[in-house]
Amino acid sequence: MGQTLADLPLRDDLRDQEPYGAPQLDVAVRLNVNENPYPPSEAVVADIARSVAEAARGLNRYPDREALELRRALATYLGHGLTANNVWAANGSNEVMLQILQAFGGPGRVAMSFEPTYSMYPEYARDTNTTWLTVPRSDDFTIDPERAVREIVHHKPSVVFLASPNNPTGTSLPLEVIERICAVAPGMVVVDEAYAEFRREGTPSALTLLPSYPRLVVTRTMSKAFALAGGRLGYLAADPAVVDALRIVRLPYHLSAVSQAVALAALRHADELLARVDELRARRDQTVSWLRGLGLEAIDSDANFVLFGRFEDRHAVWKGLLDRGVLIRETGPDGWLRVSIGTFEEMTAFRAALREVLAL
Ligand SMILES: *Cc1c(COP(=O)(O)O)cnc(C)c1O
Repeated sequence: MGQTLADLPLRDDLRDQEPYGAPQLDVAVRLNVNENPYPPSEAVVADIARSVAEAARGLNRYPDREALELRRALATYLGHGLTANNVWAANGSNEVMLQILQAFGGPGRVAMSFEPTYSMYPEYARDTNTTWLTVPRSDDFTIDPERAVREIVHHKPSVVFLASPNNPTGTSLPLEVIERICAVAPGMVVVDEAYAEFRREGTPSALTLLPSYPRLVVTRTMSKAFALAGGRLGYLAADPAVVDALRIVRLPYHLSAVSQAVALAALRHADELLARVDELRARRDQTVSWLRGLGLEAIDSDANFVLFGRFEDRHAVWKGLLDRGVLIRETGPDGWLRVSIGTFEEMTAFRAALREVLAL
């Protein structure tokens, strides 16, 4: 009774750690976790409900452990000649990436990434007792390939995480940089393409490199462009041997029959769920121009968010927006803030609030 966390025999390296993180506040305009602002249509909702009802009739049984039908559908969606054997799925790409470190990281091994980048990577490393190393990105948030090669050759990471487009900067990596890294990396190279569908015209996906690099893994998610963050479905494409490695560490029946049914139904409506992506990309580019028009810095983005700044006191700006009913994210290097791209109305509210806060 009355016990606190401090009284428990918690692992030493977990003491004083905070759980992840983005505030879930009840605010009118929520632009803080890069969700797609458009909910599914009633027609899609009805098909998802029908599929879940069908799955419910078999809920006395464990689900298909291999999620084969879903992996087949995801491979078809990705194209590039991929088949179910190249694809693995789990509860969000967060689980996929944790499984990658469970299989390829661990004590005595190193995972590496390039900061600023996704704040969850160090948590997967911590949870799997993998040593976490970061290399800074250049001032424009790109990765200097010479430096990357040097650090990889020196530290011999078992896993390299490359977010492209990167969170929180929105920066994509040229394929040449990914290839330079794959050419020297002794272990797995994970290109996290959570925002791939939002990239600008002419920005290729690392999927095209899979045939050339057997240790390359490309992760994707249905949480962002696909407007299915609540469904928790992430996946990867890689050589079939990589999938075999992940099947060793996954929990039995990790992907529920309900999750599989929801994702399959959503994939049947891919065209409709992705229909607003072009609109969001256009609004993102307009947001970048608008911010620059105010005299602020804004980073060119291939994702559905924009990093902007710089502010002497970014917390005050974040708080000022929140006080006006607009929640964005205080993340990234000091001085910067990140805003997700919402509906036209939400972005109008964001603009009005930011003008007020900055007295512009
Ligand atoms: C949002 C995001 C993900 C996706 O996480 P899910 O677990 O699939 O919801 C993965 N990587 C990055 C960089 C992200 O920003």
